[in-house]
Amino acid sequence: MSRSKSSARWLQRRRKDCYAEKARQAGRRSRAAVKLQQMDERYGLLRAGMNVLDLGAAPGGWSQYAVSRIGNGKLVAVDVLDMKPIPGVCFLQGDVADRQFVDRAIDFFQNAPIDFVMSDMAPNITGVRSVDMPKVFALAQTAREIACQALHRQGIFLVKVFQGEGFEQYLSQIKELFITVKTCKPVSSRQESREVYLLAGHVRSENV
Ligand code: SAM
Repeated sequence: MSRSKSSARWLQRRRKDCYAEKARQAGRRSRAAVKLQQMDERYGLLRAGMNVLDLGAAPGGWSQYAVSRIGNGKLVAVDVLDMKPIPGVCFLQGDVADRQFVDRAIDFFQNAPIDFVMSDMAPNITGVRSVDMPKVFALAQTAREIACQALHRQGIFLVKVFQGEGFEQYLSQIKELFITVKTCKPVSSRQESREVYLLAGHVRSENV
């Protein structure tokens, strides 16, 4: 390996460790929590009183961070996997592909308006892109449908996707549904990863 490549890898590892350490120091359950925090600091996503639906929440890093920001707002977190309790977070175990399960999660807000739907969902990755990418976008489509069902007009939707096959088509669909759409890459997201987040706001009137 060339010297410049190995230095770049060393730098990447160091950066990765620095965010893992930051998450550990803050008592977060995942390094992913740092990504949400960085996007929140940049775009002002979370505020006191907000009602938030966290899709694919386990092990709970995003939920932990979000609940620390919303004060008396409500946070409902869902995942197919179990998640250890977090004070202030209502957790439901189930599959977002199950519409009845999703309806039950939305019912937990007791008709209060839902301000923010965030999805960090990811499928089990095989490493074979032609197998993984359709699964990534199937989950992202489900997250989009749930956001449209759950959010009020001024609500916001944050979803993790990957650049590559299916990305442009998904982006166009999101632009048809929301007035503002941004592609975000928090600095703690590994540069070599195709992971990005789409941040969408203001549901177009015909979709509510
Ligand atoms: N944001 C989380 C955190 O900060 O701890 C990490 C989320 S992890 C990257 C992705 C999660 O998506 C996994 O826990 C996985 O079980 C969940 N997931 C994948 N498919 C799902 C589905 N169909 N329904 C619900 N959750 C799903």
